[in-house]
Amino acid sequence: MFDLPQLGYEYDALEPHIDTETMKIHHSKHHQAYTDKFNAALQGYDDLLQKSAEEIIKQLDGVPDVIRKTVRNNGGGYINHNFFWKILKKDVEFKGEIADAINAKFGSFDKFKDDFTHAAATLFGSGWAWLVLNEGRLEIMQTHNQDSPLTERKIPLLCIDVWEHSYYLKYQNKRPDYIENFFKVINWEKVNELFKQAKG
Ligand code: MN
Repeated sequence: MFDLPQLGYEYDALEPHIDTETMKIHHSKHHQAYTDKFNAALQGYDDLLQKSAEEIIKQLDGVPDVIRKTVRNNGGGYINHNFFWKILKKDVEFKGEIADAINAKFGSFDKFKDDFTHAAATLFGSGWAWLVLNEGRLEIMQTHNQDSPLTERKIPLLCIDVWEHSYYLKYQNKRPDYIENFFKVINWEKVNELFKQAKG
């Protein structure tokens, strides 16, 4: 059984960029629902329950056909949100090895921001934009619905949820404004830590 993780901060911690009500519903309703459906799908599959949620999603091919789609959607929703909460924090400076690596790869922070924003803004429908490490190289990518980069053997470093449930209460149809403000709540310290772990 997997538990809904605590955020590690209050629902209002990201105000005004991500509002309290959105955080509350997103975590306590949406993330809880993914968690419950993931657990329900795994009932009776003791071999899967021995693994971490990330391992299950990494090895989706090993999940029985009859529950694979449910696991992909809800297990993906479970781990994607676990990850998302961890990389959010207000007013963290862009620095460290990850800053050097981003500047080297994209040329500048502004170019990285443009590219990441483009990926987040152009994702049609529901999904995520990511900064990942792919065989040691930084890469921006999109995933649809609740798909995870882990299934493609890519290591997540940063992501933005662009499902409407993540911004609609405050931003309505203005996804670009949400993305712009998302840049004010990136926990670069955490992203840097993830980067250092990922490259080994
Ligand atoms: Mn979400």
